[in-house]
Amino acid sequence: MSHLRFKEVEVAFNRPPVRVDIPSENPSTYYAQRVFNRKKMFEYLPRETYDALTRAIDEKWPLDRALADDVAAGMKKWALDQGVSHYTHWFHPLTDGTAEKHDSFVQHDGKGGVIEEFSGKLLVQQEPDASSFPNGGIRNTFEARGYSAWDISSPAFIHDNTLCIPTIFIAYSGESLDYKMPLLRALNSVDRAGTAVAQLFDPQVKHVISYLGWEQEYFLVDEALYAARPDLALTGRTLMGHESAKNQQLEDHYFGAIPMRVEEFMLDLEIECHRLGIPVKTRHNEVAPNQFELAPIYEETNLANDHNLLLMSVMAQVARRHHFRVLLHEKPFAGINGSGKHNNWSLGTDTGVQLFKPGKNAKENLQFITFVACVMAAVHRHNGLLKASIASATNAHRLGANEAPPAIISMFMGSQVSQVIDSLINENCNDNLSFDAREELNLKVSQIPELLLYNTDRNRTSPMAFTGNRFEFRAVGSSANCASAMTALNAAVAEQLFEFRAEVDRRVGEGIPTEKAILDVVKALLKQSQPIHFDGNGYSDEWKEEATRRGLDCETSVPLIFDAYLREDSVKLFTSTGVMTEVELVARNEVKWETYVKKIQIEARVLGDLALNHILPVATRYQSILLDNVFKIKSLFPQGKFEKMAQGDLATIEHMSGHMQFIKNHVNELVEARKVANRITDLRTRAIAYHDTVAPQLEEIRYHVDKLELMVDDEMWPLPKYRELLFIR
Ligand code: ADP
Ligand code: MG
Repeated sequence: MSHLRFKEVEVAFNRPPVRVDIPSENPSTYYAQRVFNRKKMFEYLPRETYDALTRAIDEKWPLDRALADDVAAGMKKWALDQGVSHYTHWFHPLTDGTAEKHDSFVQHDGKGGVIEEFSGKLLVQQEPDASSFPNGGIRNTFEARGYSAWDISSPAFIHDNTLCIPTIFIAYSGESLDYKMPLLRALNSVDRAGTAVAQLFDPQVKHVISYLGWEQEYFLVDEALYAARPDLALTGRTLMGHESAKNQQLEDHYFGAIPMRVEEFMLDLEIECHRLGIPVKTRHNEVAPNQFELAPIYEETNLANDHNLLLMSVMAQVARRHHFRVLLHEKPFAGINGSGKHNNWSLGTDTGVQLFKPGKNAKENLQFITFVACVMAAVHRHNGLLKASIASATNAHRLGANEAPPAIISMFMGSQVSQVIDSLINENCNDNLSFDAREELNLKVSQIPELLLYNTDRNRTSPMAFTGNRFEFRAVGSSANCASAMTALNAAVAEQLFEFRAEVDRRVGEGIPTEKAILDVVKALLKQSQPIHFDGNGYSDEWKEEATRRGLDCETSVPLIFDAYLREDSVKLFTSTGVMTEVELVARNEVKWETYVKKIQIEARVLGDLALNHILPVATRYQSILLDNVFKIKSLFPQGKFEKMAQGDLATIEHMSGHMQFIKNHVNELVEARKVANRITDLRTRAIAYHDTVAPQLEEIRYHVDKLELMVDDEMWPLPKYRELLFIR
């Protein structure tokens, strides 16, 4: 009998909130306390070193190696003052999350004792033994060397008593083995391309900066219940579990009052984040029970992404203090909403102009519509690639389901911008007539009201929505590293901006006035990219048909979606912008296919074990109780009465047998399907086999387990049920 389950439920149900020690100072006092930011640099570095380092950061130069020793000495002093004993190069390998290997500052002093040492050499570059990180065959295990190098644009910070230095991770042969390196290259590329275009409007512009504001959705589950669900612990999601009678249908969770235990957790998390310089600002309940969201104030994209990765690990730690487990999986529970990580993205100039914000006059609005047109053209051209950038085994449960954008990338622009676009592309402007760009601009473009920012229509069904001063890429998964999406998007937009500038220059070279040249190219781009523009209901079946007619990428199989990275136009995009080489792209796809296989493989194993060792034995026991009962009735009552009295039990026994038999047979088939797939050496083909022959069986087996859950005595059921996982906190 599963009294264990009830013990866990009782523990979870009665757990008091863990009260947080609220600092006596205001957040502004302890904000970024654990960050080696400019204030600390100023305090701990010699003046010339401070000037040179901040200049290198601002101008995006590499750090002069001669300065490294001074910087390292200052950083060490600061860290030791904070009671820190270790340091680490903190990097983003091609796995979920981050990697770090801690070293102590301790070094022999040559006199039998030790000193604390941290040299410039250790700060700038290290060689973590990286042979066991995914690399897609770039490095053979016998050539295991890779190195990590300091990314000076992201400040060092203290976490877990360790000085963490954000780094890129590269193979000795030069290829990137992480998420950060390609992101930095894409940001550099969009900076150069964006600047070239922004200079058409203002020659003073020296840099274009990419901004990211992520919104992190997550679930919380009590740790006692979590521990009793091997599927949650090993795969991050429930592989079985019948829907709870009540879940989100009353819509009473979204923006509802936050339960006290959760509120204490959030408070604790926010204090931690603020100490780490992560500017978290917004928190609320999400749509599903036990689902929540956290969002910071947006930042420069590379920093914002480091902060998101740091947040994900801090969240897991803080949750433990409150006896919760945080679930970052895109779809931990069937039948209710999954979690995403909306990526609010924009571009701005170093002169302070937000490039996706409608301006106050015709010139500013021409700049606005120029950048919007380039984004639309880029997203249209690379819609399959952008989908690939957010595709994963786990996000696949969310995309295409009836709660998240479909597995088709389209752009929602809202009624006001749509009107401007329509009027620009639909008019029959005869270019041979005398053309007064200024007048046309005043008529068409300056209609975009500034108020738009506060007044954008919301379309929750769109994977990428214009929201007044930014684009919201909503299809990103909650567990994902945003770098993947941000690399693809910034690179695609960079390519388009480079082409835009070249085309305008060509026309100007032919004697066309600059403004007219710009407007003409904008019109052409808007016209050609209209298939990506869709303001309707993205969840509808009609849209899927319409999208196919429009030639958008409608592939739904994740292993095949990954192919988009190796298409000719994608390779050209990444190589021409200097973001990734073909070797890197090929290697990364190997990693993607392999990760896909492993995730499904683990799920299949866990489901098989649970079905055979947890579910079937309990079902058999319950069935045998029923059989026993039937026999007893038969021995006590005459045949006529027996038939009536035993009818219900007999039917249940039979139904149960059907489900149990199905589960047994299909677990065996699942094992066989895996064996067949595992024999395939080509990773792409193996991933396709896992998608086509293994993954669907998981759902089928689950269906029958969930049916048994409804039949078997509640007291015997071995796993915490959905109503317990989702409504106890
Ligand atoms: P909502 O849920 O209504 O979309 P949130 O407040 O939850 O809004 O999150 C919006 C996110 O967008 C925040 O991180 C915010 O800082 C960010 N954001 C706002 N303006 C910009 C911008 N210009 N560029 C990038 N991100 C932005
Ligand atoms: Mg949002």
